[in-house]
Amino acid sequence: MKNENENNSYPIKFPHAEDIEKIAQLLQANQQSGLTEQQVQKGIKDYGWNSYKAQKQQSIFLILLAQFKSPIVLLLVVAATLSFSFQHWLEGFSIIAVLFITAALGFLMELQARRSMSALKQMDVSVSKVIRDHWVVEVPSERIVPGDIVLLEAGDMVPADGRLFELHQLEADESALTGESLPVTKRLESLIKNTPLAEQSNMVFKGTAIVNGNAKVLVTGTGMHTELGKITSLVEAAEQSSTPLEKKLQGLTKKLIWITSALALIFIATGALQGKDIYLIVETALALAVAAIPEGLPIVATIALTYGMLRMAKKNVLIKRLAAVETLGGINTIFTDKTGTLTENKIEVSNIYIFDEYIAVEKNKISTENNRVIMDQLLLISTLCNNAVIREKGTNEKELGDPIEIALLQFVADNHIDSDKINQQYPRISEEAFSSETKVMGTLHKNGSTNFVAAKGAVEVLIEKCTTYSKGDTIEILTKKEKELFLQKAEEIQAQGTRVLAFAFKEATGISTDKFLQDLTFSGFIGFLDPPRMDVIGALQSCREAGIRVIMITGDHPATALHIAEKIKLSDKENIVITGKELESNPPEKLLFAATIFARVDPKQKLDMVSLYQKKGDIVAMTGDGINDAPALKKADIGIAMGLRGTQVAKETAEMVLKDDSFISIVSAIEQGRAIFQNIKRFLVYLLSCNLSEIFIVFGYGLFNFSFSILPMQILFLNLVTDIFPALALGMGKGNELTMKNGPRNPAEAIVVKKDWISIIVYALLMALPIMIVSWYCSSYLQYEPEVCNNITFFSLALAQLWHVFNLSSNKISFIKNEITCNAFVWYALLLCIIIIAVFYNLAPLNEILGLRMIDPTVWLIIIGTSFSPVLLIQLLKRVVKIID
Ligand code: ADP
Ligand code: MG
Repeated sequence: MKNENENNSYPIKFPHAEDIEKIAQLLQANQQSGLTEQQVQKGIKDYGWNSYKAQKQQSIFLILLAQFKSPIVLLLVVAATLSFSFQHWLEGFSIIAVLFITAALGFLMELQARRSMSALKQMDVSVSKVIRDHWVVEVPSERIVPGDIVLLEAGDMVPADGRLFELHQLEADESALTGESLPVTKRLESLIKNTPLAEQSNMVFKGTAIVNGNAKVLVTGTGMHTELGKITSLVEAAEQSSTPLEKKLQGLTKKLIWITSALALIFIATGALQGKDIYLIVETALALAVAAIPEGLPIVATIALTYGMLRMAKKNVLIKRLAAVETLGGINTIFTDKTGTLTENKIEVSNIYIFDEYIAVEKNKISTENNRVIMDQLLLISTLCNNAVIREKGTNEKELGDPIEIALLQFVADNHIDSDKINQQYPRISEEAFSSETKVMGTLHKNGSTNFVAAKGAVEVLIEKCTTYSKGDTIEILTKKEKELFLQKAEEIQAQGTRVLAFAFKEATGISTDKFLQDLTFSGFIGFLDPPRMDVIGALQSCREAGIRVIMITGDHPATALHIAEKIKLSDKENIVITGKELESNPPEKLLFAATIFARVDPKQKLDMVSLYQKKGDIVAMTGDGINDAPALKKADIGIAMGLRGTQVAKETAEMVLKDDSFISIVSAIEQGRAIFQNIKRFLVYLLSCNLSEIFIVFGYGLFNFSFSILPMQILFLNLVTDIFPALALGMGKGNELTMKNGPRNPAEAIVVKKDWISIIVYALLMALPIMIVSWYCSSYLQYEPEVCNNITFFSLALAQLWHVFNLSSNKISFIKNEITCNAFVWYALLLCIIIIAVFYNLAPLNEILGLRMIDPTVWLIIIGTSFSPVLLIQLLKRVVKIID
């Protein structure tokens, strides 16, 4: 992203102190119709993109240079110097070549990781609602320019700095900017020039969050010319820290460096005592050190992580932090909401209840002409008490807003009501915004000389704000008896899985703008059908098998929640429902841990449940969409925001965003998370066992005083050329059918646990032993020359290490068809390695560097036979004797 003209001066220095009309005029903005596409183009040219200066891209050269800073390079330099000082020129130059190959490989891998990261970043674009060419549209926030009209509502992140010109109960959380944690109430009045930032109440600022109300904003500053843009270098610096996985790998690497150094010293000391050629001893010790240090670990891990994340992104799951992948595999409790996640989110009006009658609704059409007055009341309230936007059929713009409100607008349109006309006749003067805590929404309108209040919300909450109810032509007192009747009827419908919203209104003059949700007239309620997602049943089943508990946590009514839970077989036992009310009376923890449904809970209680389960030691994932869900999302080990329904604040807080809102995606993300972790573990075990086998061989030959050894250059070749590619391929595996059949792993635990160390040692021994025995036999009994015996050792080990990848499949799965044999990368890697080996064997001076010579077909037969023996032995132990797995 280039901001060519970012220094173009902004026409308005103090937007909070200017007259709004003047600002609009200076920016050639139109508060009603917004900018035209042409103006936007020009704006982008003049002011640049609305983004922070692309993080100072580490230059390619610097990345390359960084490759030479590693300990392995240092060791290689020492080795090369040593060779030169002994006038082993060819060897010296070869080591330098190896050094460059290592650096180049590291460099390419790092580039690859960066490319994946930036691809992931690009998928995470935020959008904003703006008015352009008379239409409300969603555009990428990057394309907002000064003069744009932005619409904000609770839950939005402010995309640019701007001056407010219309607002309803707007409150913003500006802590990101000012550090003040209490929300600030916004006003329209203009201010004096030197008002401090924290008191500029007629402005909103990029990067802050709207926590209440809604507003229209005239954008005055974008990109680096926003208040946050000015301090953004600070923000970026804080983000660069390593993930727990990287830390663990770095720790492991460090440990191995110490062990190896100790081994190398022992090796040098014993060799010197035995009176061996000191040059060869030191060189071999260095080669061993290079061999044993898993230098590429962190970067291979990063590649495995980013590759896995890209694969998840294709499956509608966006992971925002690398570290989250690791936690994902450890999740054992999922708190999921209902609407849209467990249900289809194809919300449609299914029935209506008014004072004494159910009215079925088919295909969104009211099927009766009776009680027309109440029907019109319901349609009027649905239109007015609504913040969604739907566009005429035929235009390809999608609907914007809360799904239930979109459903209502659709319902209104399908019953031939002209909502535009109604909105013009009843201009809105105030709004009580919906929140998951109050569970109601109300709007106050002007209608000629009188006022009109439109309200909707949860039945039991809204009915408490009513004193009368509508019987069509008359309005009656709402007695206790009627109240109970309404509630009972609502209960009946909700027990069938219908989501219910109640509607109420008031007509009077001079209603105050801040307390208008009282003494209302109850009109009736509308039931919405939101069918359960039937494909969730399978996902829930696999959660059970994977040792993951799924608990529904919803703001909806317990009866609706229970019905859906039963339809999707949430639990294989009887569901235990606990309501928010019951939570208030502190039920025993045992009951809370047994619950499968929490209904009518508010966001605060969601947070409490996360804390409670975490205290028990659970690793908790929590879904959320609203602004009030942010604390619970943050507290959860993995916060999951809904891509379709979610507010920007929720998406910003969460570790993971579901692009399709579906529960299935959560489960597939967990599966992927587990698979990625298995991959990382697998290539670790692979690399470490290969390295250890080399160490065994070098030590063994030394210990038994063989007349030949394995050469330093050969060890380098094995580690830096032939081990890397299979390891990388293992890092890209897709996981197997067992991934979701075992319990979750404990994220606190080390990556390589005791059991793995045992496998590593057994693998290494079984690789080294046959090769040592065969080489020794060839030397002692077949009287082969030392060079040939050395070649037998080298080739057998090189090939044995290649075949060793197949040992890393689980013994519970077929040896022929498993995630390793089905991983195309593995086959490419093997092919590549065999080609490289063949090239080195055939091409001078490469073969000279490695001390290779032409060998007879019989010797090749011995080599190939030997190279397969570790696989045979290991598989025997794994599958028949079952000592290791
Ligand atoms: P959930 O998303 O878990 O189903 P919410 O917290 O969104 O729960 O909603 C809780 C209750 O608030 C709903 O059951 C409904 O009665 C009411 N409600 C939901 N959305 C709106 C809205 N846009 N306006 C008014 N009331 C609403
Ligand atoms: Mg909701």
